[in-house]
Parts: sequence; C-alpha cells; structure tokens
Amino acid sequence: MSTLSSQEIVELTRKYNYGTWRFQKGWTPMHIADAEGCYLITGDGRRLLDFSSQLMCSNLGHKNQAVIDSIAKQAQDLAYAMPGYATEARAELSKLLVEVLPAGLNKFFFTTSGTEANEAAFKIARMYTGKTKIIARYRSYHGSTSGSIAATGDPRRWAMEPAGKGQGVIFGPEVHCYKCPIKHTYPSCGIACADYLEHMIRNESDVAAVLVEPIVGTNGVIVPPDGYMPKLRKICDAYGVLLIADEVMSGWGRSGEWFAMNHWGVVPDILVTAKGITSAYVPLGLCATSEKIAAYFEDHYFAHGHTYEAHPMTLAPAVATIHEMERLGLVERARSLGGYMEGKLRELMERHVCVGDVRGKGLFWAVDLVKNKTTKEPFNTYSDKVAGKVLVVDQIAGKVLGEGVTIQAWVSHFVVAPPLIVTKEEIDR
Ligand code: PLP
Repeated sequence: MSTLSSQEIVELTRKYNYGTWRFQKGWTPMHIADAEGCYLITGDGRRLLDFSSQLMCSNLGHKNQAVIDSIAKQAQDLAYAMPGYATEARAELSKLLVEVLPAGLNKFFFTTSGTEANEAAFKIARMYTGKTKIIARYRSYHGSTSGSIAATGDPRRWAMEPAGKGQGVIFGPEVHCYKCPIKHTYPSCGIACADYLEHMIRNESDVAAVLVEPIVGTNGVIVPPDGYMPKLRKICDAYGVLLIADEVMSGWGRSGEWFAMNHWGVVPDILVTAKGITSAYVPLGLCATSEKIAAYFEDHYFAHGHTYEAHPMTLAPAVATIHEMERLGLVERARSLGGYMEGKLRELMERHVCVGDVRGKGLFWAVDLVKNKTTKEPFNTYSDKVAGKVLVVDQIAGKVLGEGVTIQAWVSHFVVAPPLIVTKEEIDR
C-alpha cells in the first residue's frame, strides 16, 4: 500500500505528468482514491455520483466482482501470449462478439484503444479497396494519433495541423438537425447532408470509406434522423465505398441497443469500438469487419499488428463484461431508464432559459447550453477553451461537483451518461 498522503499524490501527479486539454499551470488533478458502483471516492473521502461514466466508459459501474475475478484468474492462468497464438480468452470473446455485434461482423482485430482500432479500420479499408481517401464529418472525434486525429472533424485537429492536413481525409457536413450546418430543416430537407456525401464521393475519385460516429459522442451526442443511416448505407453500396461505424462511445448498450447502428437496422462494413467493451476495467479496442472483407484477407497479407494486440488480460474481462451485461439486462435497462431520464431532461429544458436543447438515446444525452434559445448562440466556443478562458459549462460543472456529482462538460454542453446500473433515485438527484 502507498504511504503517500493525498496531497503528495496530487503534487507528484501534477509535477511529472501532462494534463490534457488544459494549460499545465492550471492543472490541479483531483485525487480519486476508490470507487464503487456509480460513485467515485476522493482522497479526502467525498463520494461523487459519476454522471458521465468516466468518459462514457464505466457502463457496469465500479467493483463489479465478476469482472474483477476474471482479471485475477487470467493473471494466474496466462498473463500474456503473443498475438499469433490462440488463447481461451480470445476464443471465448470471439464467440460472444459474433452474438452481440450486428449480424455478419465476425472477423476481429483487437487493440488497446479506440484510436488504434480506428487506425486498423483505415488501413483495412484502404488495403481492401485499393483506394486512399476517407470521408469523415465535421463535429466528430476519432482519436488522437496522426491518422485518427486527421480524421477528426473538430478543432482538436488544430493542434497538429498543418502536419495532419490532407492525410487522405476529406470532411462532409455533420448531421445536426438542431444546428443544421446547411440551414435546412428536417424532414423537408430530404436529408440533404447525406446527398452531399454522395456528391463528394462522385466528385472525388479514390474514396475508400465513409467514417461516421452513428451517434456523435463528445461533440454533443448528436443523433441522426431515422432515414440518414439507411440512406448512407445505400449510397456507399452504390459506389462500392465502405461504411465504417465508430462506436467507441455509442456501443455497448449506452444508447439502449447493443450498438447504435441497430437503431436503424444498418450493418456497417467495419465497426470500431472500445470503452464499454470492458467497462474500462482494462484497455481494449476492437475493429470488427464483414465477411467480404475477411475473405479478401484470406489471400492478402494484412501487414499490421501490435505487441499488446489480443492481450489475454484485456480479453478475459471483456468476456465477463458481456456476461454481466446480459445477467443484469443492462441494454434493456438503458432503454427504459433512458426514457425516464429524457423526461427529466426535458423538464430541465423547459425550466431554464439557457438550456437550448437536450438530445440523445438510452442513457446517452447532451444538455446544450445557449445564450439565447432563438439564435442558439453558445456561451463559449472552442477558441475560448484554447485561449484558457473560464467556460460557463466548467463553472456549472464546478458547482455540481460541490453538490457531489461529476458531469462531463465540453465547450458549451454536458454529456449526461451515467453508468447503466444507475437508479431512478440517482437520476432524480
Ligand atoms: N472514437 C470515438 C467516437 C471516441 O469517443 C473516442 C474517445 O473518446 C475515440 C474514438 C478514441 O478512443 P480512445 O480514447 O480509446 O483511443
């Protein structure tokens, strides 16, 4: 056990580590000493209700005994074997994934993060199609390595541009009916934002894939209108372009389906996921591909891999996580409690002039703050964040923290996404 005091833990962490998304000099990390269920316990003993599941990961909540036991057992049995070997954990997980993923996605590449899983997806799409361009969308996030940040359609790319510019990625419009970038109104628009992607494919030769977050996560829990995904699937099929669904955040029951694509009955060619796959007990990412892609690689060398790919210590807890999700009925729970939470959030929107929109599915929601409900002007922009200004969302999150609740604030909205084991009483609170 550590002999460090809570204050020493904070000081050593701050002194020797980079803090993300903030000026280093303003970073005083909170010491999290313990956690249980939906609660984090701080170094000074406060119990915090976690209403964003630690970056939308901790779907099962903390201290799930079955997952803990699976980690201990795997460490005893076989901590590591090279990716070229077969292991029991790998076989068990593969069998379960075939059952829970959208039908037909049954060839897997395991990584240790969502970012790496996206990199694998881009490489597979480019090798399979022999084409280079990926069409991504604005207001998206796909990871932080050179390739995945180049595919990220939000200002976070600025930090690495111009180096990341033009790395085979072009951007189409986000699907954001509340703030439509092309000033249309659904449904009379006929989903023009999907038509625009078709226009891009037609005019750009060499498009390998269209990359989407089925429900956009960090950038505001943006749910597309019902016709969008089926339309996009048809467009991709018509032009021989692959459809990649990045379900790193939206997967694993978060939206009230195992995967968000299930809401529209659309199967992508490649599905990328991470986070909830192990409820973040260990780091695991997954790139799942269709049979036709798998068939191609029977005769073609897939020149890709990581030392920690298919690491047994990451796979065994994923098996336990899926079993626990099934035992506790968490996908159904996210759907039914999601309806309850939606009602509460809509009350909040009616009560407060600064809540412009609430949107989401299941237990995956955004509360969007605006200065004015008619103009929809946000309180802050990303430039304010980069300039180190105190953001309104951060001020509110600070007050909420004082009440014993943590919530993820991002520029001018909150992501409301409690663990899927949350209770009605905790939602009321
Ligand atoms: N894709 C999406 C949609 C994400 O939300 C994230 C992370 O938040 C990533 C990719 C990157 O995953 P990771 O942080 O595990 O590398």
